[in-house]
Amino acid sequence: MSVGVEALFTSALGLQLPWVVEDVKLDTAKRRIDFEIGCQGSTLTCPACSAVAQPVHDRLRRSWRHLDFFQFEAWLHCDVPRIACARCGKTTQLPVPWARPGTGFTAAFEALALALCRELPVRQAAGLLRCADKQLWRRIAFYVDQARAVESFAGVQTVGIDETSLRRGQNYITVVHDLDAKRLLFATEGRDHQTVLDFAADLKAHGGDPAEVRHVCMDMSAAYAKGAGLALAQAQISYDRFHVIAMANEAMDQVRRTEMQDDAAAVRYALGSNDRKTLKQLMWGMRRNPSGWSRAQVNAMHWLQHSTLKSARAWRLKMALREVYAAARSHNNFEQAQTDLQAWLSWARRCRLEPFKKLATTIKDRFGAVVRGMTDHRSNAFVEAMNGLLQQAKRAARGFRTATNFIAIAYLRMSKLKHLPAHPFSPAGAR
Ligand SMILES: [Zn+2]
Repeated sequence: MSVGVEALFTSALGLQLPWVVEDVKLDTAKRRIDFEIGCQGSTLTCPACSAVAQPVHDRLRRSWRHLDFFQFEAWLHCDVPRIACARCGKTTQLPVPWARPGTGFTAAFEALALALCRELPVRQAAGLLRCADKQLWRRIAFYVDQARAVESFAGVQTVGIDETSLRRGQNYITVVHDLDAKRLLFATEGRDHQTVLDFAADLKAHGGDPAEVRHVCMDMSAAYAKGAGLALAQAQISYDRFHVIAMANEAMDQVRRTEMQDDAAAVRYALGSNDRKTLKQLMWGMRRNPSGWSRAQVNAMHWLQHSTLKSARAWRLKMALREVYAAARSHNNFEQAQTDLQAWLSWARRCRLEPFKKLATTIKDRFGAVVRGMTDHRSNAFVEAMNGLLQQAKRAARGFRTATNFIAIAYLRMSKLKHLPAHPFSPAGAR
């Protein structure tokens, strides 16, 4: 006896009594397959109180988008019974096993959507799935909230606090990573000290203990220092390489800009060119590593290095600081790093370039924490890797880049959440 097509799909969809596929309609012109699912029996168990053999009150027509069946868009339809229970007196709709309540997608379709959104920009995932971006954003938010709610942050000891912005220079988001587990723990709008307090509260809510956080790696903002002082009082602070070098680059840029404003003639004379392009090459050459210089940048930097410009001195100071960091990375010796940084500071203090004198004061005030950050490459490397992932998350939210969406997609991709739905196409053996 051959198995009927309805019975075949009943088992392919993983349905069990009282649910059965009663009809299958394939429309090749519309590239669509529709499954009619029936709920058998005139009496059923009450979903509210579990009383057995309660009468079906009525049935409500519902439809769900399912995973494509070959090239056909697949839909499930069902007249879902409502049970009028004599014991608890409630009239309750039966939950269906293939979808969570109130959604028009099956659970398998949602799991595929989520898997795609981890790899692709959400707009692109929506295109592949032929659904609206908005529908995907809603589901990302739902599953991320659900998964985060049961996530444990117990034993977190080393965190990195960082800021990122959705648009250049605005819409700041504070992100907190677990530097040991290499995952995103927390993200919130703003970059004031309250964000660190909110992180500590969230850590507690997930079974972690702020008093157990021993080490915080962050930038030099006064707000984060205040927040860490209040909420993570046991933690030692260190400032990572990435931020300190960024500050040196900013100081160098300031020197160059000021010199261009005050003494453009001297700069043009030193470069032997009146060309705007050459000045652009100089700007990029100064910012970039020498190994990444284009031919035009090599040329501009050659003239700069043979000049007596302030910009030349600023560039040497920046490069020297990079050297101090590079050396610390290879010798990994705290005392040596202290000596080298001290030497750089005394040069920077005497350099007669205001932005570098200011930077030297900033570093001197936080000397111990800066040196700790020099020999801690675990966090240094991680902060840079995370920055790359955050940029990808921003690209994934393109067109819908609100703080809420960005935070949700960052959690989805960077938090290593353990309770997200499994990819529906993972091989049966691998589950
Ligand atoms: Zn009941």
